[in-house]
Amino acid sequence: MSIPTVTRESPVIWPDFLFLIMKNVIFIGAVLMYCAVHGQTVIHRDAEIERMVKEVNADSLQSYVRTMVAFKTRSTVSSTTDSKIGIGAARNWVLAKFNKFAAGSGGRLTAFIDTTTYAADGSRVKNNINLGNTIATLKGADPNDNRIFIISGHLDSRRTDVLDGTNEAPGANDDGSGSAAVIECARIMSRHTFPATIIFVTVSGEEQGLLGSTYMARKAKAANWNIEAVLNNDIMGSNNSNQTDVINNTQVRVFSEGLPAYELDKQAKTIRQLGLENDGKARQLARYVKEIGERYVDNLQVVMIYRNDRFLRGGDHTPYVDNGYAAVRITEMNENFNHQHQDVRTEKGVVFGDLPEFMDFEYLRKNTALNLVNLANLAKAPGMPVDVKVEVRGLSNGTSIAWKASASGHVAGYYVLMRETISPVWQRKIYTTDMTIELPYSKDNYFFAVQAVSETGNESLPVVPAPGR
Ligand SMILES: [Zn+2]
Repeated sequence: MSIPTVTRESPVIWPDFLFLIMKNVIFIGAVLMYCAVHGQTVIHRDAEIERMVKEVNADSLQSYVRTMVAFKTRSTVSSTTDSKIGIGAARNWVLAKFNKFAAGSGGRLTAFIDTTTYAADGSRVKNNINLGNTIATLKGADPNDNRIFIISGHLDSRRTDVLDGTNEAPGANDDGSGSAAVIECARIMSRHTFPATIIFVTVSGEEQGLLGSTYMARKAKAANWNIEAVLNNDIMGSNNSNQTDVINNTQVRVFSEGLPAYELDKQAKTIRQLGLENDGKARQLARYVKEIGERYVDNLQVVMIYRNDRFLRGGDHTPYVDNGYAAVRITEMNENFNHQHQDVRTEKGVVFGDLPEFMDFEYLRKNTALNLVNLANLAKAPGMPVDVKVEVRGLSNGTSIAWKASASGHVAGYYVLMRETISPVWQRKIYTTDMTIELPYSKDNYFFAVQAVSETGNESLPVVPAPGR
């Protein structure tokens, strides 16, 4: 469809103004009509989220990382009682930061250190330790909304010898970067109100075997928390690898599991029958992180990796996926192994060790913003549509999908998502205010899902329809 044009006729000045308005109205009308005809939806940035992105500050992130490094070591087996050195001093400092933000939050942000005794395990913990996760909770404003979104980083650091809790272990990037992102998101988001709850956590015990995140995920499961997404941030503030000269600060990786770890035996038959091996909760979350991240954060491409984590390696999202929650890992594009799990030293002119001078805080700013926009968009969105069903009573070359309203939030409408079976990302987003849709595309040849969307364009996570008879 071509865009209609208006011929300019009047030379006087005031009609120029009217002419401009009319021209714009006609242009916008033409765009909307194009979209209506082609089933595409124009999506604008939410102004509140856009403002929050501008507040993410590279200098703040750098100051957090340098403060964390100044505790000399944050090993999980270091002192929990020394006021200046060790994991105890570090987690108290994070708590003090959270409490400072809480003071400006109108009582909505509360923080504490969730401690437990972890018994010696004969492996990476030789003596009983006091394990502690520093947690800030930004309570949702809607009492009918029990959804929880979590951002996590690990505060603990390590030396080459993981049992050494005494000597220098700066852990600037691993995982001062992820912890700084958690703190910065708490700083900015605690001044805003969201219907759903957001939890900001710096765990410890990651290097000792995911101890802090395992403790938290199990606790969440036992208390039946309605966690819809966990963003685990680990190693995301360095822009280069130790093997090439390539600098990459415009791409970030998001890892997500394919087949779900949780109760796979119960789901396997349906996954095989419907070809849903690429549509588990974590994979849907990864797709969402990519779409929303690229919508709001300029000059950052989110690269989905079809794997729960890096090759044979682990992270703090895994205890959540093991307990049935959607969780992903966010990590820089290239890792520099000279600066990871290495004692600080110089060998043949090469400096080893995880120091702040090897980081790129502008890159960390973008990766922090990636988290912020996703948490904000999720927490502002209505709940997911429920009982989403694709009609299968008769054979058809079309697709008919129906659903029921979200359990919480203000729904302006719904997006019906569509992609070819070989496409990694959703290719079409069709807006409707109805709760049923008939599409002239076959369910044999495409994947579909439905999201609820608010007046300000914040969409829920998508729900893949179940067969409905
Ligand atoms: Zn790490």
